[in-house]
Amino acid sequence: MLDDLRELYQEVILDHGKSPRNFRDVEDATAHAHGANPLCGDQLVVYLKLDDGKRIEDVSFVGKGCAISVASASMMTELVKGRTVDEAKAMFERFHEMCTGEDSGDDSTLLEDDLEKLNVLSGVRAFPVRVKCATLPWHTLNAAIDGKDEATTEA
Ligand code: ZN
Repeated sequence: MLDDLRELYQEVILDHGKSPRNFRDVEDATAHAHGANPLCGDQLVVYLKLDDGKRIEDVSFVGKGCAISVASASMMTELVKGRTVDEAKAMFERFHEMCTGEDSGDDSTLLEDDLEKLNVLSGVRAFPVRVKCATLPWHTLNAAIDGKDEATTEA
């Protein structure tokens, strides 16, 4: 990765880590799940409010963890808000591929803007131990969508 690109990635991650977006609970949430990454100690709860058409009307998180996990959760809530659960799952799949290096190159379900944001997050693949920190919020979101209470990176 080019140094200036890496710097940009760090800047975005630091900004979200320092002032996370949607860091609150959703009082009338229709689903929530708890996620834990024992390797790092990251813990969070993701709250979801789905409308009748399975669209994510509101999404938020609370918890504590390293800057990467908090930044990833913050960016995730911005990305999936207003999307259907299927769109959110497709995004997670793509993000997971980016992080693990199994890049299928299938961006058909994503907008260019989404892709750019996911790309920033997937900068963690340069730091393999951080991949679980970055994917934890998405695993937790997935669990909430599927009606499960718990998510772990060790599953
Ligand atoms: Zn972490």
